[in-house]
Amino acid sequence: MNEFIRLSCSDVGIPEIIQISSVIEDGYLGMGSYVEKFESSLQSFLSTDSYVIAVNSGTAALHLALQASGIGPGDEVLVPSITYLATYQAISACGAIPVSCDVRQDNIFLDVTDAENRITPRTKGILPVHYGSSNDGICSVHELASSYDLTVVEDAAHSFGSATSTGIVGSTEQLLCFSFDGIKNITCGEGGAVLVKSQILANHIKDARLLGVSGDSAKRFQNSRSWKPDVNIQGWRYHMSNIFAAIGLSQLSSCTTRFDKRRLIALRYLDQLKSSNSIQFLDLDYNMIVPHIFPILLPEHIRDEVRSKLAEKGIQTGIHYYPNHLLAKYRSPYCLPVAESLGRRLLSLPLHTLLSESQQYRVVETLKSLV
Ligand SMILES: *Cc1c(COP(=O)(O)O)cnc(C)c1O
Repeated sequence: MNEFIRLSCSDVGIPEIIQISSVIEDGYLGMGSYVEKFESSLQSFLSTDSYVIAVNSGTAALHLALQASGIGPGDEVLVPSITYLATYQAISACGAIPVSCDVRQDNIFLDVTDAENRITPRTKGILPVHYGSSNDGICSVHELASSYDLTVVEDAAHSFGSATSTGIVGSTEQLLCFSFDGIKNITCGEGGAVLVKSQILANHIKDARLLGVSGDSAKRFQNSRSWKPDVNIQGWRYHMSNIFAAIGLSQLSSCTTRFDKRRLIALRYLDQLKSSNSIQFLDLDYNMIVPHIFPILLPEHIRDEVRSKLAEKGIQTGIHYYPNHLLAKYRSPYCLPVAESLGRRLLSLPLHTLLSESQQYRVVETLKSLV
């Protein structure tokens, strides 16, 4: 029987155990000095002058970024239909309405022309997603946003570590969110971060992650807190714990080898599958990005069968993602033809840093035999 090949996994071990042990020895698992250190390490890794605010998930990061931007009940936010459900839930958590937009066929980035057609007087924001770790198309999103005075919040959950023409993702953007959940490019176990240039927004987000208590973040880093809280805004329990920050610190210190491995696997897939006529690739620059997933496009009449045959042979695959505008909660009264067609064609192949060359070879050979 063939060994089971996972779609994704957490690559953690002794270095993470050592970091976690030191948190346990220090005796405080909540938000404290490890979180402060993780934030400053992220800031220097990205060489950014943005404020970095660590939270307990990428979803929380998106929710806080939207809330701080003043997105509230009844406001509309333009969002690509092909994204993780978290992007949508973060918008509706603000009481705002996600307005589903179509995506580009070549890289599944937000289709800016379609987005512009969906602007109404209630449109307040636009939430582009770095699908497959690429932000190719982001300039036209910013142009659209400035013509209509919209807030941009970038969902960079996939793209931690990726390079762009203007620098590493997170270094120049006004407002951007990362995820460090169990399978992202680096993991904290669960976690996320908001990167923001504006000090006013940063202060809002820092307070909002700790139940809205003014200035509490700085006190937590000094092992203290506000006993007579001053609260002016809606807050949440979204702060990161020292345990998760310790895992993140360990991951960050060894991330470049992991990133190289992810690129190598993606480039190998491209090379070994390019001869197959039934497989199409997205237009993603695997020399620049750090791929979180490896999506391919299959003819729609064979996708589900190929997926179940791979599963029978012990190879796990994914579908990133089922179009959100087809879900009951977010159903749109209109069609999004590209998103719907991609939703029937996408298949993500195993991609993680523990995938061996021989396992990858098995994925490639099995897939080729099925298409
Ligand atoms: C993972 C992910 C999120 C949410 O991050 P969590 O840390 O899992 O809450 C948001 N958007 C996209 C595109 C993601 O892949």
